[in-house]
Amino acid sequence: MTASELQNQVCREWTEKLLAMTKEMRRRDLSFHLGSEQTRNDTPSPMDLADVEEIKHAFGTAGFDGRVYYQAVDYFIRSKVEPFQAVLNTWMRGAKANVNAGKVPFTEVITWCQDIGDNQARSALAKEVRSICAFLAPFSYASWKALLNVLEHDLGYPEYIAFCEEKRDVSLAVSGSHAQDFLSDTRETYRGLIDPWLNTVTGLSLKDASRFDAIYLLGLRYLDHLFPQGLTIEKIVSFFREWGMDLGNPALHIHSEGIPGRQSYCIPVDIPGEVHVILGPLHGWLDMESLFHELGHALSFIYTDPSLPPEEKDFFQSGALSEAFAFLFQRMCMSREFLQEILGLSSENAQTVSRAHVLKWLTLTRRYGAKLVIEVENFRLGRLKKGQSLYSEVMGRETCFYYDPETYLFDLMPDFYSLDYFQAFIGSACLREYLNQAAGDDWILNPETGSILHHWWRNGNRLDLSAFLQETLDRPLESGPFIKVNQYDLGS
Ligand SMILES: [Zn+2]
Repeated sequence: MTASELQNQVCREWTEKLLAMTKEMRRRDLSFHLGSEQTRNDTPSPMDLADVEEIKHAFGTAGFDGRVYYQAVDYFIRSKVEPFQAVLNTWMRGAKANVNAGKVPFTEVITWCQDIGDNQARSALAKEVRSICAFLAPFSYASWKALLNVLEHDLGYPEYIAFCEEKRDVSLAVSGSHAQDFLSDTRETYRGLIDPWLNTVTGLSLKDASRFDAIYLLGLRYLDHLFPQGLTIEKIVSFFREWGMDLGNPALHIHSEGIPGRQSYCIPVDIPGEVHVILGPLHGWLDMESLFHELGHALSFIYTDPSLPPEEKDFFQSGALSEAFAFLFQRMCMSREFLQEILGLSSENAQTVSRAHVLKWLTLTRRYGAKLVIEVENFRLGRLKKGQSLYSEVMGRETCFYYDPETYLFDLMPDFYSLDYFQAFIGSACLREYLNQAAGDDWILNPETGSILHHWWRNGNRLDLSAFLQETLDRPLESGPFIKVNQYDLGS
């Protein structure tokens, strides 16, 4: 065997091994989220630093080959940080907020706030959550410290930002400044809309409102009396049939269980062969939004070309493209056209629900834009715990709701996922604008939309979101379509 044949064989073996590990990890996540304990003993052998070094040597750190290396790095980091995360999870599971003689589990605070229309109860909860976060912060901090230590001491990345930039092939400074621009461009519109909306729904004014009131406002439960009675997942399945998509596909598993509003997930155990969607029962708008969001992920995975190599479908370092498909669907199902034409709402009711959703969308996009700005600045200055004052200040300014500094670490996602979300909100509007132009104003009802989506999804995760927009649609990732599409809806 020649040196290069040997090298090829080494690469093939590592790729296969990492693919098996990735699937096993996703299967563990699936068991965890379905509430079944891990009983399998065939957890893959741990990866040590020498393995990571060998993979780095064999694949390098750039392009598609580099994705194999970063997949190994992620696996290595996860195995080192998991014990700290497990301690945090145990404490989080035990923590409860006392509100009006009842107990709200810390892990269910968001669902609880979405349901509770009593302003005073939410305000009492906010105080309790502050104390719980202050108590739990050292455990979250330990988990972050473990991550940064592994990066610096084992992997030789002294700076978190530099590591994330290299891994994702992106400039976080540039992305942060795009988010700044978006915040400036939409600030005035947002401020003019958010106060009257909050006031109409809750009677509160912004100066007295916290992020927990925002969660209630965005949960839209107070509009659930307009939700069509008896709407079932089967009815939604029939909508997708118009696009030539079969939700009865054996690769797709929908688990609709637990409480309404529970955190939903899409877990692609094997792309495209086995994809799971986990969500609560379909009781209201929020549940339907979750369903469409997760289906955006799931359908894009099950219609991926099975012959793509793992580097182009299973190993991807940015979730933005998949999130953009998810947001495209989520926003679509709450549009006036969908509510009226597919769900049969009256034009007045469709207008009420879709208008609320446009405001929700702007609020969420600004929230993730602000988070991105804060995280880039805090990590640039090496601030972890100390980053909480900037967090409270910027979130307060940009969302107009009060954010407790103590909650910072619990609102901080690893790997700059705030960038993925922010880009996906913006990018999904670019996708929508394209569909509008290519399949017409009635793109939601046009079977042509289904063919375009199939075509997009075949390529899996070969491209990240910006490259996808540029290469497939010949347009940049920019916020113009987001602002245009959503202002159009607001004014109508
Ligand atoms: Zn998602």
